[in-house]
Amino acid sequence: MKAEEFAAIRKRLGKTQKKMAELLGVSVKAIHSYEQGWRKIPAHVERQAFLLFSRTLEDSKTTKPCWVINECLPHMDEKCPAWEFRFGTLCWFINGTICEGKVHANWNEKMEVCRKCKVMAPLLSELNSST
Ligand code: SF4
Repeated sequence: MKAEEFAAIRKRLGKTQKKMAELLGVSVKAIHSYEQGWRKIPAHVERQAFLLFSRTLEDSKTTKPCWVINECLPHMDEKCPAWEFRFGTLCWFINGTICEGKVHANWNEKMEVCRKCKVMAPLLSELNSST
């Protein structure tokens, strides 16, 4: 996640840097550093920031589960944790999902795929409208 995206999420949530630090369980100094681009935004912070931001979207923008949107084959559904844990509209939040036919090695690799996916598109489009 880029510094501008992180700052845009905080502003859209209407939180001060202090409140954002409390929400994310990090120091105010860390929030400042993320927003200035001095410090790389860690995976756990990025995940949580996206999760909080996703809760501000209308349900109508996120109602269809990923296995419907991506027309996953039934055998794929069964092995995918998005299906197992019913994370169809928040599949980008969990690791180990089977996207583009395979499990991705880590969060950064997964995010590269998610950022191009139709499931995450409404979230990113909403975010881009504020940056
Ligand atoms: S690529 Fe990401 S957003 Fe798309 S279905 Fe997989 S986990 Fe969900």
